[in-house]
Amino acid sequence: MAKKQFKAESKKLLDMMIHSVYTHKEIFLREIISNASDAVDKLCYISLTDNKVGMSRSDFFIKITPDEENRILTITDNGIGMTNEDLESNLGVIARSGSMDFKNDIDGKKAKKKDIDIIGQFGVGFYSAFMVSDEVTVISRAYGADKAYQWQSNGADGYTIKEAERETVGTSIILKIKPDTEDEKYSEFLETYRLRGLIKKYSDYIRYPIKMDIEKSRSVETDEIDDTVDGEKGEKVTKQESYIEEETINSMVPIWQRTKKEVSDEDCIAFYKEKYYDQEDPVKVIRISAEGQVMYKAMLFIPAKAPYDFYTREFKKGLQLYSNGVMIMERCEDLLPDHFRFVMGIVDSRDLSLNLSRELLQHDRQLKIIANYMEKRIRDELGKLLETDREKYEKFYVAFGRQLKYGVLADYGMHKGLLENLLLFHSSKEGKLITLKEYVDAMPEEQKNIYYACGETIAKINALPQAEQVKEKGFDMLCLTDEEDEFVTNILREYEGKSFLSVNEADLGLETEEEKKEIEKQSEDDKELLDFVKDALKGEVTEVKISHKLKTHAVCLASTGGVSLEMEKYFDMMPGEEKPKAERVLELNAAHSSFAALKNAFDSDKDKAAKYAEVLYSQALLIAGLPVEDPAYYTELISSLLV
Ligand code: ADP
Repeated sequence: MAKKQFKAESKKLLDMMIHSVYTHKEIFLREIISNASDAVDKLCYISLTDNKVGMSRSDFFIKITPDEENRILTITDNGIGMTNEDLESNLGVIARSGSMDFKNDIDGKKAKKKDIDIIGQFGVGFYSAFMVSDEVTVISRAYGADKAYQWQSNGADGYTIKEAERETVGTSIILKIKPDTEDEKYSEFLETYRLRGLIKKYSDYIRYPIKMDIEKSRSVETDEIDDTVDGEKGEKVTKQESYIEEETINSMVPIWQRTKKEVSDEDCIAFYKEKYYDQEDPVKVIRISAEGQVMYKAMLFIPAKAPYDFYTREFKKGLQLYSNGVMIMERCEDLLPDHFRFVMGIVDSRDLSLNLSRELLQHDRQLKIIANYMEKRIRDELGKLLETDREKYEKFYVAFGRQLKYGVLADYGMHKGLLENLLLFHSSKEGKLITLKEYVDAMPEEQKNIYYACGETIAKINALPQAEQVKEKGFDMLCLTDEEDEFVTNILREYEGKSFLSVNEADLGLETEEEKKEIEKQSEDDKELLDFVKDALKGEVTEVKISHKLKTHAVCLASTGGVSLEMEKYFDMMPGEEKPKAERVLELNAAHSSFAALKNAFDSDKDKAAKYAEVLYSQALLIAGLPVEDPAYYTELISSLLV
């Protein structure tokens, strides 16, 4: 029979597995058992509603059978099985996210020691069988199929699929264990004692029995009489007899069902990394054992970094939902609000009615109670982390802070109360991330508002002319660099009674009565000039005014009304016809020499004054990070003034 070739990526991984110098070859067993468990999960779920399966929860099992003499290790399950097509698509190619990440790591490079160490961190699955075997045979019969098929491969040169015999639904993975070498003693994977140890170590929590035939011995009385014993009667001779008994090796209690005493945080972390293909420890493990209106156990994880597709539509939030030890949903969305969609984990409740269809489950009252409690619990745990381990929290915030901010914005700000204390913003004064509470607590008595400025980078924000007045007063300013930030401050409106105010606002309310009077007078005196500048800018700005915001700079651009300059930039990037524009206010520093020059020109040469007005406005645009409408015209303008 002609051999079929593996898809390119699979071939590469296979090569690595075969030539692996990886020290933890033993993980192949864990991988195969966990595949078997998944397959059993699937059929067990079907059996809840479909009598045709003809099995109940306790009938499912996984069996490990070593044959030392022939160097064969067989792992059998009575799960859902695979069709001919399944064998082809599941075992002929690797195209799963977990393995793909891994593939990217090794792509283009020879598998070096370092890369190979990654193997243990990912669910490399079925292919790991080739680390310990020369030949892998899979015989499987899918649920509902009347034929069984055999898949066989010796490794990188391809595989064959043909019809086979198998009485019952399920899968057997048959491994021909490699011969021992000087360095590697593959025989250990055929020893009952060693296999038992591996099952205990990696697969103890599997919820179905993992069975093995164990050789035992017992004493039996024989009919022989022992005459050699003193006295006339003699005694019956007992002999040691060996027999085989099937034993369940694993404890079958899943990790989330165990008490904190039994399972350490390290165990949970190891479980997380293996289950979710994450190399990094989660920043937080949350364990819930609820005994109130609804009884359930939950084990939640807050990852340290966002999955690559987290901020895309592809990412599906949700927790794995179990009921009575049966996995009923891979990703139950209703258990997690969107703002906490980064949370991974498992919820297991006896109280969920299994007969409900998945659609009905959404409206299940019990599920709502669980979801509500978990939302608060996650918030509290994040709050605790923020207080007790700032470094870790910031790491989390770099990954998921954006999601929290989206949460504040969602549903017209409905969740802002829940989330506001989890937000961090960069403080201009402190040079680091701070909470809103920290900002407000540090405010001097006379400061009335929470000041903020938006920009591309923190350095650019700190250099903004319009921030000068705030800084001179000794007030702190939040530097907002994410595009959604200003929407967040808008929807929050205030924190502990202090309103958010952008330094771009035309009125920062920082002038003393005296200063206000002074500005008023000056504006009165220069009214003609200000009107002239406004006219010269032909409707570009709604107002030209003299400002005390500026200290060393000549101009800046501010806005009035609901749409800020930052929002205008954001809307510009979005598709759509009608883009809201900010009402622009050009602020001039009357104490700056350029203002004097403008005034002079206004008195002596109106053409020149109009050019000055345009130059000043263009400068204000540039500082605000907005494009100059016509750069060629602008450079011409400057050149004409240089002459
Ligand atoms: P993963 O388990 O991470 O998806 P694997 O390479 O380990 O990747 O397995 C590939 C696929 O083969 C599985 O997703 C599953 O669909 C199928 N499979 C493997 N082992 C079994 C089994 N014992 N019973 C049924 N299907 C299986």
